[in-house]
Amino acid sequence: MNHDTYDAIIIGAGIIGTAIGYELARKGRRTLNIDMLPAAGYGSTSNSCAIIRLYYSTLDGCAMAYDGYYYWKNWADYLQAPRDESLASFNECGTLIMKTKLNDGLRKQLVHLDALDIPYDHWTNEQILERYPFYDVSNFAPAKALDDPHFGEPTSGQLDGAIMFPKGGYISDPQFATRNIQLAAERVGATFRFNSRVKEIPTANGKVQGVVLEDGTRIDAPLVVNVAGPHSSQINALVGADRDMKISTRALRQEVTHLPAPGGIDYASFASVVSDSDAAVYTRPEMGRNILIGSEDPPCDAHVYVDPDNYDRNFSDQWTLQAQRLGQRFPGIGIPSNPKGCVDLYDVTEDWIPIYDRSCVDGFYLACGSSGNQFKNAPVAGKAMAALIEHCESGNDHDRQPMHYRLENVDREISLGTFSRLREVNQDSTFSVLG
Ligand SMILES: Cc1cc2nc3c(=O)[nH]c(=O)nc-3n(C[C@H](O)[C@H](O)[C@H](O)COP(=O)(O)OP(=O)(O)OC[C@H]3O[C@@H](n4cnc5c(N)ncnc54)[C@H](O)[C@@H]3O)c2cc1C
Repeated sequence: MNHDTYDAIIIGAGIIGTAIGYELARKGRRTLNIDMLPAAGYGSTSNSCAIIRLYYSTLDGCAMAYDGYYYWKNWADYLQAPRDESLASFNECGTLIMKTKLNDGLRKQLVHLDALDIPYDHWTNEQILERYPFYDVSNFAPAKALDDPHFGEPTSGQLDGAIMFPKGGYISDPQFATRNIQLAAERVGATFRFNSRVKEIPTANGKVQGVVLEDGTRIDAPLVVNVAGPHSSQINALVGADRDMKISTRALRQEVTHLPAPGGIDYASFASVVSDSDAAVYTRPEMGRNILIGSEDPPCDAHVYVDPDNYDRNFSDQWTLQAQRLGQRFPGIGIPSNPKGCVDLYDVTEDWIPIYDRSCVDGFYLACGSSGNQFKNAPVAGKAMAALIEHCESGNDHDRQPMHYRLENVDREISLGTFSRLREVNQDSTFSVLG
C-alpha cells in the first residue's frame, strides 16, 4: 500500500503548531500540519485573549516573551509577507500591572526584567486614576466567591500603585494571526491538512513512524510533534509518551467575559491591558467598545478540568463572577442580561509553565501544556522547537544536557531545560495563568 510520506508531521494547526510547521519548513523539511478542525487557529487559539506581556516568574520565561514581542512588532518581516497581504495587527497599548499584596509589587519579576533591560515605569495611585478616573483603588483581596456575604467590600488599604510596561498590548485577531503564519509556511513549502483527526501513532523499535487518521489513512514521517493544545494528553497517551513525564497536561475550562464600556466611554482609545491580582481579573479593550475580562485564577475558584471532547460551552456563574470582580474596581460598569464572551480550554501543567521538549519515544516531540499563556511566545516556540528537533536528531542527549537556544531579538540564551517534561514542578511559578 502507498502511504503519503513527510519529514515531519505536526499534530495541530493552532498558533504554536503552525509556527513550528513554518520553522521546520524553513529549514527545508517537508512538513504536514494535521488538524481535525476546518482551518488554522480554530481551536483554543481562536478564543485566546492574545495578550502580549513581558513579565513571567522565570528569567527564561521573561526572555522568551521579550524575544517574542519583537516578532509581533515586526510581524510582516517574521512572515516574510508580500506587501499587499492583510495582517493581524498588534495594538501596542501597554500593560499595567497593579502592585498588590498578592504579587508583592512584582518584586521578584522586576529582577528578571532589569536583567533583560525591559523598560517599565512605576505609577502611583494618582497616575492610575488619571488614566482610569472611574476606578476605585481600594484593596478587595482576598478574592471571594459570589455568595460570600463580604463580596465586593473593600478590605484594608489601597493598591500600592502599578507598573506600566509600554512594550505590550494585544493582537487584534488570534485566529487571523495563525492564518498569517499558515500562508507564510505554505510559501516555504509547508502543507496543511484539515478536518482530519489523528487516531493512532504507530511506532517500531521505540521510534515513531507517522500517524493514522480516523478514516484509516496512514501518513508516514520519522518526526511527529504533539501540538494538540487541550488534547495533548490524549495524543501523548496514544504513543506512550506519557510514560516518563514528570509534568502532565490537562484541559482546564475557562470563561472570558465581555462587557460594554459604560455609555460614552471610548475604552479602546485610552485603556491598556490591566492585570489586577487584587480584584483577581485581567482586562483589555475588546472590539465594539467592549471590555474583555479574564480570570487570574484565585484559589477560591474551582478549577474545572474537563474532557476536551465533551464539556459545557455555556456560560456559568463564573461569567458573572468575573464581571462583578471588575465591578469592584470599576463601580460604574453595568452587567447586561445577555452574556457575551467565550468559553474555551487551557492545556495546563502542574506549574503553569509549558513543555517544549523531546519525549521518551524517539522522533516524537512535545510542544504542549501552554497553560493559557503561550500565544505571545508562539513565534519563539516555533524556532526553539525546530532547533531542538535538529539538536536531538543529530544525536545530542537533551535530557542529560539541556540544549540552550539563542534568542534572535534579545542578546541571550535560554535553557530549554526550563520547559522539560522531566523537570520538578517550578516553585517560582505563580501557579496561575501568569505563568
Ligand atoms: C480563553 C483563553 C485566553 C488566553 N489568553 C492568552 C493571552 O492573553 N496571552 C497568551 O499568550 N496566551 C493566551 N492563551 C493561551 C494561548 O491561546 C495558547 O497557549 C495557544 O493558543 C495554544 O496554541 P496551540 O497551537 O498550542 O494550541 P491550539 O490552538 O489549542 O491548537 C491545537 C490544535 O490541535 C488540534 N487537535 C487536537 N487533537 C487533534 C487530533 N487528534 N487530530 C488532529 N488535530 C487535533 C485541535 O483541533 C487544535 O486546532 C489563552 C487561551 C485561552 C483558551
